[in-house]
Amino acid sequence: MATVLSAKNRLEIINELRQHPYDLLIIGGGITGGGIALDAAARGLKVALIEKDDFASGTSSKSTKLIHGGLRYLKQMEVALVREVGQERAIVHRLAPHLVIAEKMLLPLVKGGTYGKMATSIGLRVYDLLAGVKGTDRRVMLDKRQTLEKAPQLRQDILLGSGFYAEYRTDDARLTIENIKTAHEYGATVLNHVKAADFTQENGQVRGVVANCKFTGQSFEIKASVVVNAAGPWVDELRKKNHSLKGKRLFHSKGVHIVVPHERLPLEHSVYFDVPDGRMIFAIPRHRATYIGTTDTPYSGDLNHIPIYLEDVNYLLDAANQMFPDAHLELKDIESSWAGLRPLIYEEGKSASEMSRKDEIFVSDSGLISISGGKLTGYRKMAEKVTDLVVSKFSGSNHLQLKDNNTAHIQLKGGPFKDSREVEAYQQDITKRIERWNLAPYHAQYLVANYGRQTEAILSRLAGFLEMTGPEIALIRAELQFCVEMELTATALDFFDRRTGRLYFNYPSITPSMAYVLKDLQRYLTWDDQRLAQEKQALNEQLQQAANFEAAPRQESTQKV
Ligand code: FAD
Repeated sequence: MATVLSAKNRLEIINELRQHPYDLLIIGGGITGGGIALDAAARGLKVALIEKDDFASGTSSKSTKLIHGGLRYLKQMEVALVREVGQERAIVHRLAPHLVIAEKMLLPLVKGGTYGKMATSIGLRVYDLLAGVKGTDRRVMLDKRQTLEKAPQLRQDILLGSGFYAEYRTDDARLTIENIKTAHEYGATVLNHVKAADFTQENGQVRGVVANCKFTGQSFEIKASVVVNAAGPWVDELRKKNHSLKGKRLFHSKGVHIVVPHERLPLEHSVYFDVPDGRMIFAIPRHRATYIGTTDTPYSGDLNHIPIYLEDVNYLLDAANQMFPDAHLELKDIESSWAGLRPLIYEEGKSASEMSRKDEIFVSDSGLISISGGKLTGYRKMAEKVTDLVVSKFSGSNHLQLKDNNTAHIQLKGGPFKDSREVEAYQQDITKRIERWNLAPYHAQYLVANYGRQTEAILSRLAGFLEMTGPEIALIRAELQFCVEMELTATALDFFDRRTGRLYFNYPSITPSMAYVLKDLQRYLTWDDQRLAQEKQALNEQLQQAANFEAAPRQESTQKV
């Protein structure tokens, strides 16, 4: 059994990584790398995965957080893509029903909008058919009155009616982390904050990497028969290091989301609506917040620091105010925001919005397998394709008894749950159990959606903190202890961003808990005061960036496409 995923065990995990020759080394701990790690480990390969920052810190925590069939791809006639991801939705929901939650979407029909009534009715029906949606989940067409009953905030003068259809929402970062933790249960060695700095080769073939630990600066070699580059937006950087950046290349498209308090846009259902420039964006309610996105603009700046400009947020505010005019959303309403890069495959003559979201695999002469493009929703299928290719490299070698792909049946950590009804019952049970500490039902909803049955491990840690602080802070500290000891949480941002999503969806909870979190981290991870000060500064900078925006420098002006 691999070492427990406690951040206190980083040195042991590094020793594990340097000692073993692996069958497969994956570079990149986003959903693509995480999905491959689980598939390959479950088939019986000896797998390692390294991530230069935190798991899911790249695009996989910056998406719209929908597990969706991609309605807009139907408009682009990408029928096969819509069918595949549509079917995947149902599978991914089954693998983690607490984390991939059914969400009804409202698609308003407006005068002069993208979709007419007939086209929407047929389009959504085809969408349901391709995805195998059944029974009451199938789309219904609503007239203007029925639409306003569901979303009274919609602009009335141009509203004609709507389509009401089924999608799923998730937490992209948690989905990634649970895949990685489940891969670890199948024996994979995984570590965050370790960068693949260079490749090592034998007889012209890639046979591993020189890795570098961000915290200690330690460099070490990891040996593997096959190396997969699942570095998302950084895929071409690694192809360049491997001297194999030829032919197709990545195109980075920036997508920004903004978050406002739920009371400023109190939607009950998600809305997918037209924007005056011909695009469509989402407004999605989530616990105590509503988020709006996304933009889709070409990006060629620093991949590690993606700026959010006033132009980006004004575009989203204008779009929301156009569709929800009584909300009068303003800059000061924005609590938080995030920006991510779509790692798309470049297509000559197409705009960012038009470029296909299909995934593609490149194999270099030296054997490096790179995968890019694709969607969060299709991660399992992408992983299957890559793992099939990896497995084919071992055909004929009899030291490995490999199983077939089985990830459609492997429930992710946080489960098992039979279905959403069982999740609901569990949530009710948690709601009752936390009542005695005066914790509101919202906390049960959050805990179960975030951690599933791992909520038990958090509640069992809660008592120890209740003696020292009020219940809300105690809960955050119990979460932190769990995340450090079981999920390799090694920085304050790992916790507030990827593990809990508080940076986006519960921003006001950070300031009152921050000093406790930093002090606890210092104690758990034996930081000196200098490290503590660095962590505090990094967190403050991130809090500042998420809620404050400057105009784009002239040459970088946000270009609408
Ligand atoms: P990433 O998540 O970026 O992972 C790559 C990882 O590799 C990073 O964490 C990075 O730090 C690491 N790395 C890079 N270089 C190195 C190195 N040298 N050593 C070690 N590690 C390294 N899809 C959906 O299905 N639904 C949606 O609602 C949706 N919305 C989206 C909205 C936006 C704005 C964007 C940008 C994308 C959206 N997508 C959506 C697409 C989806 O988010 C991406 O396809 C997916 O997250 C890509 O995952 P990835 O693992 O390939 O890349």
